[in-house]
Amino acid sequence: MHPFTLTRAADPRSAIMAHGTDRAVAFIAGGTDLLGLIKDRATLPEHLLDINALPAMAAIDVRSDGSLRVGALARMSDLAAHPALAADPAVRQRYPVVSESLLFAASGQLRNMASIGGNVMQRTRCAYFRDGDGLPCNKREPGSGCSALRGIHRTHAIFGWSESCIATHPSDLAVALAALDAVVHVRGLQGDREMPFSEFHRLPGDTPEKDNVLKRGDLIVAIEIPARAEARNSHYLKVRDRQSYEFALVSTAAAVATDSGNIRSVRLAMGGVAHKPWRLRAAEEALRGLPLADVASLRSAIAKSFTDSRPLTHNAFKVELAQRCVLRALQTAGARA
Ligand code: SF4
Repeated sequence: MHPFTLTRAADPRSAIMAHGTDRAVAFIAGGTDLLGLIKDRATLPEHLLDINALPAMAAIDVRSDGSLRVGALARMSDLAAHPALAADPAVRQRYPVVSESLLFAASGQLRNMASIGGNVMQRTRCAYFRDGDGLPCNKREPGSGCSALRGIHRTHAIFGWSESCIATHPSDLAVALAALDAVVHVRGLQGDREMPFSEFHRLPGDTPEKDNVLKRGDLIVAIEIPARAEARNSHYLKVRDRQSYEFALVSTAAAVATDSGNIRSVRLAMGGVAHKPWRLRAAEEALRGLPLADVASLRSAIAKSFTDSRPLTHNAFKVELAQRCVLRALQTAGARA
């Protein structure tokens, strides 16, 4: 086992300073991903800084406009079961896609431990990255090469990949947050800032070791989920090799607003297809105004977001599977209207 020290952060300011000035420091909250990465020797921090006691970062607040502000230290199970999402039927209808994305992820025990901030920060499940049996991996060891590109890549990306990395992002919640245009609140060495969720994760390019845009010292404080008309009629559909405790082959977060059975506006994001949650903007545009009952038209509109897909030898099946996943998620969301 890799040796490390464990200390408890006293306050956000000193935690940010420690992380920002020492590359050997890593924040730890639930630890459900980080400890696995350490065991796999995919990351080897020397000092773990426990941020669980930082004040006011675990709260889930429902604003007067119906939006949610979710503290980064809130647990996945807390958010999935929060009264705003689960207990109050009137409010639950605002964000079913969020609740479903959480409940389809991991296991009950893991959801009780894993923090919301850690969930969106989790790293790819690419076996070459995780298993570390000496094969090249640019994400694990920059410049070493990508074993998946010419190896086994059934679960890998069909959008946005580079010659450096073809990995996918594993978070289900992140897909729902991307569809709803959530906002990430970050505190760092230079103070507070916020960014659209769609800009939080990044494509691999030449630096696949960077999963997101955070810098040293940056701490996710909260994630804000805006109140949106489409979110009331929303659904998260996850397709995977087994029905529980498995990552997505493909998944879809769909949210739709309708007028008399026609689509007024729609939000679509996918998981399991790219290095970040993948928004289907072209399909969203093409779907506007279409009757939800016109399946042929829905299919051709959805296909507009797949003209730039780049499947590889083992994952070509994802192109058709993903479009079917989008259609089914859209129909289920639409049936809730
Ligand atoms: Fe590593 Fe990315 Fe290639 Fe997987 S796909 S082996 S994570 S560089």
